[in-house]
Amino acid sequence: KEDTEDVKDLMFERLPKRLINLLRLLGEYGEELNMPVYVVGGFVRDLLLGIENFDVDIVVEGDGLEYAKYVAKQLEATMVSYEKFLTASIFFKDGYRIDIATARTEYYERPAELPLVDISTIKKDLYRRDFTINAMAIKLNLGNFGVLYDFFGSRDDLNKGIIRVLHKLSFIEDPTRIIRAVRFEQRFGFNIEKSTLELLERTLEEGYLEKVTGQRVRQELEKILEEKKPLDAIKRLANLKILNHIFAKTYYTKVMEEKLKRLFAGFQELEKIYGQINKFYCVLRILLEFYDEQTLKEVVKKYGIPKKFADDLKVTEKKVGFVKEMVEKRVKFSELYKILGKPVSETAAHIVAYLDREDRKYLFDYLRRVFNTKLEKVSGNMVIKKYNLKASPLIGKIMNELFCKKLDNPEIDEIEELDKLVAKYFGGVK
Ligand code: ATP
Repeated sequence: KEDTEDVKDLMFERLPKRLINLLRLLGEYGEELNMPVYVVGGFVRDLLLGIENFDVDIVVEGDGLEYAKYVAKQLEATMVSYEKFLTASIFFKDGYRIDIATARTEYYERPAELPLVDISTIKKDLYRRDFTINAMAIKLNLGNFGVLYDFFGSRDDLNKGIIRVLHKLSFIEDPTRIIRAVRFEQRFGFNIEKSTLELLERTLEEGYLEKVTGQRVRQELEKILEEKKPLDAIKRLANLKILNHIFAKTYYTKVMEEKLKRLFAGFQELEKIYGQINKFYCVLRILLEFYDEQTLKEVVKKYGIPKKFADDLKVTEKKVGFVKEMVEKRVKFSELYKILGKPVSETAAHIVAYLDREDRKYLFDYLRRVFNTKLEKVSGNMVIKKYNLKASPLIGKIMNELFCKKLDNPEIDEIEELDKLVAKYFGGVK
């Protein structure tokens, strides 16, 4: 048939042996249950592109749940099933996972809402997908192992570097595909095909993206931030005015772009200091800067962002210019500490967005110092006991001053400095 092509050799050439073995077993089990089994979507796309991808998505023509149960049993793996969606995940002992779905078509009762599903064939299953490049399948059953199914010109589009929807209503049915189109376009350096772009723009103008829940939009934005070149994607979102339909009062300018650039340049170091950081919140610090309080409140609610985020944003917004100056002047850490304290990761990120390379380094030094500095020999109780003092706010003040001294010079002798401070505040050691 003209819609098919043998890519078995390519698979043997490009996939690790273990993965080939697994795929062959998956085909064998399909054979034993008399069900056609395919690997689909991003896995197939990336195989043809020569990009490593171990995310195996299986589609079964038949009862996918029964198949999944059988696979789990044969391979001594654990199955978690989602009956409502006719899908299951198989977890192997080493943590590796594959997803199994029943071939299905989808019915949209209303645009921008999640679809109802019905059991179907592989062709219809592929037709409901976002873009042609993601709509190929490779059969795994023994006799047909390695047969590529390309019903919609996917391979052509992949060769030409084109992002194309499968039908005219695609963006209306699921407007998150507007964001996905940009993500894939930028990831592969492709182009959104002309009529797809027209559909995208029309759907956008007609306000469909606004109908999608904040949660789903957020998920797609978060995926963009995990891409290798998130700034290019954000730039494209801005140029296509998609960003305006997500954050109505964000005006993407050169200045904003510079901030984002510095922010992305700082992420790695921030993660070393804070552990995992929430990139989405960090980027929002820049995109939502200078919003009026009412609009900010609405955005925060829509995207499920903690209320504290808005408060912190407002506070940082006011002092960031001042902090920038202080960093540029290389003021002592103890001076910075008075203004910054121990900032949460998003606040640090917000400031990073204002700083050039060398200045960022200074801020990172400050952060490392502030999080690593601890008074080892001195505590409030110890001060009270040692000098026979009453508990008072003055004790806290002394502790804080001692901490500041240690920030500026980690080598100080805590006890010696404490003596001096007590003398200063209490007129000599009692
Ligand atoms: P990658 O893993 O390469 O980043 P991805 O994140 O889109 O791609 P998933 O989100 O797991 O991967 O999607 C798997 C497949 O499901 C896609 O290749 C696509 O065919 C399909 N798909 C995902 N989301 C949608 C959507 N909103 N509309 C239509 N099809 C979708």
